[in-house]
Amino acid sequence: METAKEASPVYFSDLRTKQGKGLLDKLGKLAVQAGLQKINFQRKLVALKVHFGEPGNLAYLRPNYLAVLVKLVREGGGAPFLTDCSTLYSGRRTNAVDHLQAAEENGFNRLAVGCNVIIGDGLKGTEYRQIPLHLPHCEAPKIGSAIVDADVLISVTHFKGHEMTGFGGALKNLGMGCGSRGGKLEMHSASKPRIVEKNCTACMVCIRACAHDALRLNKDRKAEIQYDRCVGCGQCVALCRFNAAQVLWDESAEVACQKVAEYALAAVHGKPHFHFSFLLDISPNCDCWDLNDRPIVSDLGFLASADPVALDRAGVDLVNQASPLLDSALSEAGWKDGEDKFTALHPKTRWQACLDHAERIGLGRQRYQLVKVG
Ligand code: SF4
Ligand code: SF4
Repeated sequence: METAKEASPVYFSDLRTKQGKGLLDKLGKLAVQAGLQKINFQRKLVALKVHFGEPGNLAYLRPNYLAVLVKLVREGGGAPFLTDCSTLYSGRRTNAVDHLQAAEENGFNRLAVGCNVIIGDGLKGTEYRQIPLHLPHCEAPKIGSAIVDADVLISVTHFKGHEMTGFGGALKNLGMGCGSRGGKLEMHSASKPRIVEKNCTACMVCIRACAHDALRLNKDRKAEIQYDRCVGCGQCVALCRFNAAQVLWDESAEVACQKVAEYALAAVHGKPHFHFSFLLDISPNCDCWDLNDRPIVSDLGFLASADPVALDRAGVDLVNQASPLLDSALSEAGWKDGEDKFTALHPKTRWQACLDHAERIGLGRQRYQLVKVG
């Protein structure tokens, strides 16, 4: 039995409501009791890191929840903004213009939420700052500039399954989500980019942008990487509009999870941070898909903690303790009573590696004490 001293408190609110005490009231109460307002927000720029959801996906967080947290930050004297960094793969969130449009379509706007959206890594995902933490895998993670510049970071996460990390929780939201496109390349890939010649239009954009003079046009007028000069920064992948400069998705599941933990540590480095996780619409896959499958368990509640590792551990435990919805992807995955649901859904993933590594590098602890908030 862990003592409270050894364990990080994780605050939990269930979803029962009564007249005058709706879900938004319960979220506000949870945030206050969990200690959000102990952070000094006075005149601080406060980033609320959220996944806006790929259009077509309906499992992403409702903007109404963000509005509650934005209001609390404003009451504390802070200047909140919502943020996310652009994606590495093709879709509706690969650059700031498309990403902002997607966020608007999904309801993340000033009217609904009460603050602006700022894409963390700039127009084309090339605006980042390196955080030199000298970690076992990532020497200096590349974090979106707007997130580095923020004075306070609050992660607001929709908890669900994930194809790469087993489950998508606070560490995934912070690590993969705050990484620039080049940072995402570093997490996903063990090797440098490649050029798919048939897609290359010889537009020269990557060649002009490569800071290491590692790209040139070959005799067939296709971009070519000189690997002895390439440092794997990912800039060419971020800039290529023709999907010719591509990532090799070849990192091992365990190392990829450990890199996510290292990026999460870099995202919160040197600033107050706080974390919320919403165990709602717990779909088997990430909100990056333009659809969402039936949840694997019923809606469970809200979690809040100053410790993102404890928060994720509590989230995964609560889902694994919950009764399964057997007409979900769990049945197709052959899940059996007592098994870890996320490993059953995504057998090649290693979510435990992310939590273990996060603990090892000092981001938080997996031991937690669940504090129920009425
Ligand atoms: S940016 Fe893309 S299309 Fe343009 S030269 Fe580079 S690889 Fe080819
Ligand atoms: S990954 Fe970076 S260094 Fe390598 S070719 Fe692309 S832009 Fe140049």
